[in-house]
Amino acid sequence: MTNEKIPYKIYLEETEMPKYWYNVRADMKTKPAPLLNPGTGKPMTAEELSQVFCTELVAQELNNTDRLIPIPQEILDFYKMYRPSPLVRAYCLEKQLQTPAKIYYKFEGNNTSGSHKLNSAIAQAYYAKQQGLKGITTETGAGQWGTALSMACSYFGLDCKVFMVKVSYEQKPFRREVMRTYGASVTPSPSTETAVGRKILEEFPGTNGSLGCAISEAVEAAVTRPGYRYVLGSVLAQVLLHQSVIGMETKAALDKYGIKPDIIIGCAGGGSNLGGLISPFMGEKLRGEADYRFIAVEPASCPSLTRGKYVYDFCDTGKVCPLAKMYTLGSGFMPAPNHAGGLRYHGMSSILSELYDEGLMEATSVKQTDVFAAAEQFARVEGILPAPESSHAIRVAIDEALKCKETGEEKTIVFGLTGTGYFDLYAYQKFHDGQMDDYIPTDEEIAKSLAKTPKLS
Ligand SMILES: *Cc1c(COP(=O)(O)O)cnc(C)c1O
Repeated sequence: MTNEKIPYKIYLEETEMPKYWYNVRADMKTKPAPLLNPGTGKPMTAEELSQVFCTELVAQELNNTDRLIPIPQEILDFYKMYRPSPLVRAYCLEKQLQTPAKIYYKFEGNNTSGSHKLNSAIAQAYYAKQQGLKGITTETGAGQWGTALSMACSYFGLDCKVFMVKVSYEQKPFRREVMRTYGASVTPSPSTETAVGRKILEEFPGTNGSLGCAISEAVEAAVTRPGYRYVLGSVLAQVLLHQSVIGMETKAALDKYGIKPDIIIGCAGGGSNLGGLISPFMGEKLRGEADYRFIAVEPASCPSLTRGKYVYDFCDTGKVCPLAKMYTLGSGFMPAPNHAGGLRYHGMSSILSELYDEGLMEATSVKQTDVFAAAEQFARVEGILPAPESSHAIRVAIDEALKCKETGEEKTIVFGLTGTGYFDLYAYQKFHDGQMDDYIPTDEEIAKSLAKTPKLS
């Protein structure tokens, strides 16, 4: 065969990359509870939300009815640079475990930001640009979201202002430099740049900061600057919508080979990667077309689904954001200082909270030393250095595969490998040096934090 005859074109045409995001809310009988205005206790209107968020993203946030939402061409063009992401059969892990189970992982770490966060960052930056905005503000904890948003903003020529949780700002200087490479400005939070930051500093001098506090600062920075809006990298329904690209691709690839998964596993911080991965499969379950087991994995040190309460709560420490009904540990909850595995948000996506409450999804929590042991085991056989967050899913995938070994069941397990751990080597170091321990909050600690959730009549 000569070169001209090789049908290169078929590879592009047969790609698994979808042209639509899938909105799981359309298939939910009970819709997730609406965001509430903390002042009036009434559902937030589009107009109120538009003061903080981009207009088109508000429309997506409030859209409970459209099942498929077209992905704009500009976003598809960007996705094509790193998507479809690989769905990999973990042959070497299976062999090592001597399990009859088949294990697949969907790897989202193949882009510079190193995680799935870029899938939503590029969408959010696009709609901000479409609206003619000058820039966007956000918070970042470990730094993955800030990095992804910096990349997306530089692609569309938007200003990007990131409030980075102070302890990460100091512990992860290289993340900060990646963001600055893409042109973002990065401020350690709490800062003296905002009124809410000054207030928090006065109340808690010397604080290391938290995600909830950085959110308050970023929101204030957006609403006090003309031409700016605030964007968030997880928790919100719009973010789960954008992340559905993960699940759509996974389903297309599995369908192509006639593979039906039995168990789908993902780590859960705010719920965006898990929500995105399971969405199209959950849609089938909701419509009664197929059944799957879905497992959310969270850290034992920040167990919002497994030990939290399903109530309306504040999304941030400064209480400037709308109230969301979700499984929460209380907005003042902070995981123990030795917690190194990420996934430290006090609440959970309202969509996943509702699905979990209805018994459509399971949740489990794992200790961080067990998570890092799984991370190391995975790295040694499959090659990829996983993010600690992703390793929560690895842990439970391995445990489920080992159960299959006992029972002899040939289950098919799919899990989300959300990112790489190159910026988490400080945490790996603690693990290797035997300096990592497992602090699990007491019932009293959780109850104390939950007592401060808002009272709604
Ligand atoms: C942010 C992040 C998570 C957790 O966020 P979700 O919104 O729960 O998906 C998981 N893995 C990686 C690598 C991340 O960067």
